[in-house]
Amino acid sequence: MALITATVPVTAFQQNCTILMCEATHRAAIVDPGGDIERIIAKLDAMGAKPEKILLTHAHLDHVGGTAELAKRYQLPIEGPHKGDNFWIQALPQQAQMFGLPPVEMFTPDRWLTGGEQVTVGDVTLDVIHTPGHTPGHVVFVQPEQKLALVGDVIFNGSIGRTDFPQGNHADLISSIRDKLFPLGDEIEFVPGHGPRSTFGHERKTNPFVADKRG
Ligand SMILES: [Zn+2]
Ligand SMILES: [Zn+2]
Repeated sequence: MALITATVPVTAFQQNCTILMCEATHRAAIVDPGGDIERIIAKLDAMGAKPEKILLTHAHLDHVGGTAELAKRYQLPIEGPHKGDNFWIQALPQQAQMFGLPPVEMFTPDRWLTGGEQVTVGDVTLDVIHTPGHTPGHVVFVQPEQKLALVGDVIFNGSIGRTDFPQGNHADLISSIRDKLFPLGDEIEFVPGHGPRSTFGHERKTNPFVADKRG
């Protein structure tokens, strides 16, 4: 049972919207549809994917801006983020204004997620990890057998998420990375919310913010 992954950078922020498709059933989850939904739909079509749900790591506009539209288009349930991010969803109009973007439609998740839960995509199961810091309700999705993680804006190849937004917390972010993500294993490959993929092992060696040698 494996997932086929495809990443579509969307919005002016080049946010990595990632399609997770179950190889066996072709059922797919769309993770963080930040916008540009016609491009996401084109990719789904090219993959022969049957959209099943939307998964959200956190509620920043560049990650959720296309959620309402896409959910409506395919009648999809929305799972995530953790309800600590509800204030960011309620603030979507202000987020759009702040970034000079057209107003986006509001939505309500069908399922808030918490750490220790699981989500499914077709026949594949992913673990949910609550990783506050960048936002209080940020979650990460992990498929342990495939050694794959979708980490949103928690950690990037060579960097970590910002914590200067309302309810951001630097100590929480570092703890989320070191105490919750790195223990999953060096060989886990992650897709970040922006930029190229990496592995936890590579970041433990080289990341200027959370490498082991930084104590
Ligand atoms: Zn973010
Ligand atoms: Zn982002």
